[in-house]
Amino acid sequence: MRYEILCTRCNRRAEEGDMRCGCGAPLTVKYSIEGRWKDDNKESIARYLALLPVKSLPLIHTGWTPVAQRSNAIFKMEYLSAGGSFKDRGACIATEKAKELGAEEIAVDSSGNSAIAFSLFAKMLGLKAEIFVPATAPQGKKNLLRFLGANVHEIDGKREEVNREAMKHKFYVGHWWNPYFIEGTKTVAFEAFEQTKKMDCAIDCAIAPVGSGTLFLGLYKGFRELIELGELEKMPKLIAVQAGGYASLCEDSNMEESKLADGIAIKDPPRKREISRAIEDSNGECIVVNDREIAEALIDLRDMGFIVEPTSATAYAAFKKAKPEGKTLIPLTGSGLKLLDELIKIQKDVENR
Ligand SMILES: [Zn+2]
Repeated sequence: MRYEILCTRCNRRAEEGDMRCGCGAPLTVKYSIEGRWKDDNKESIARYLALLPVKSLPLIHTGWTPVAQRSNAIFKMEYLSAGGSFKDRGACIATEKAKELGAEEIAVDSSGNSAIAFSLFAKMLGLKAEIFVPATAPQGKKNLLRFLGANVHEIDGKREEVNREAMKHKFYVGHWWNPYFIEGTKTVAFEAFEQTKKMDCAIDCAIAPVGSGTLFLGLYKGFRELIELGELEKMPKLIAVQAGGYASLCEDSNMEESKLADGIAIKDPPRKREISRAIEDSNGECIVVNDREIAEALIDLRDMGFIVEPTSATAYAAFKKAKPEGKTLIPLTGSGLKLLDELIKIQKDVENR
């Protein structure tokens, strides 16, 4: 076995397909890392198959999103992915794994992007997708889910209630608990490492929006494995960004509850302990941003040519606030094209200030 599934709290071994440990804590995939990936010409996550817990990958291009440097910021354009967000990476691995384990359908809870990614890969792999979303999720995203053939369950209540409903389903594979999801998102770190190396620069810092923390933990795990492989010397400083009213990790100073960052509107993520550990281990920090800062960052990003959703703009808002030293990786997580009405409203608000 080149990997095993372990509990993040008690370290007990779990079975393939388990979504949580008997003790209640989330699980992680631990590799016995030997060698590295092949330097083949594959410019997709297929390049890293030796470090992924699946036998093969679906026939759709996943990963290898472009990077764009603007002074000290290195933007990774995750929103150009097939499903329009970085969640494609996690859903690709998690759906493939579900299929390998014999599932014929999957159940997922999501505020949108993750649901879209899972629906897309379920469609490609011939699985049925049962998707649980908050009734308040953006209409554009819900329409796309239906277009992708998902069975959409709209749940009244907060994100945590949506999660509870979805977890009642036998084939729950949601990204909050799924250990395979983070195996997909860690490839952001692998790619950014290889891409910046070609540009002759190193990543000193990385900033990611944190709701359930799958991107943040993916970055941490990816950089950690690069260090274990002997490729990378030092863990970059990792900055977790949260939105006002949803700061489970940082000091909030009673900020007004964010209405813009719907993708990270999660008050109590299951992997909170792991996220705190990653911040500590990377000498990182946590930054909270408010809706005004998010809106301004969104318009700044537009001016640089990036059409992203408000949740993605939280990372750039934090970059402006924290002014980290050195080259900073900023994954631009989700496409703004799913939420055009909201972008236009934000544009008007910012212009009228
Ligand atoms: Zn445990």
